[in-house]
Amino acid sequence: MKETDAIANDAPAKGKKRRFNDLLKNQFFAPPAVARSRMAICEKCEYLTSIKLCKKCNCLMPAKTNLAGTRCPEKKWFPYYAPKKSLGD
Ligand code: SF4
Repeated sequence: MKETDAIANDAPAKGKKRRFNDLLKNQFFAPPAVARSRMAICEKCEYLTSIKLCKKCNCLMPAKTNLAGTRCPEKKWFPYYAPKKSLGD
């Protein structure tokens, strides 16, 4: 097999990896603006400790606020759902 054939055969796998990475970026992580606004709410909360741990959920908030599907146990902020893209995108 020639080197060019090997690259051509690998192309679909790279496309899948890119789509998976896009999915992770768009569905798994909250956009930075959402994470910042969540963290701003937590900073004012009585349950946040000095090491940024929430006493209600025992989570490290700088990490948790970056995850799209997470929520505040006190209902101060909610999960983020990315807008669905159409098939043409
Ligand atoms: S997750 Fe909710 S309860 Fe916990 S520190 Fe943030 S705002 Fe407060």
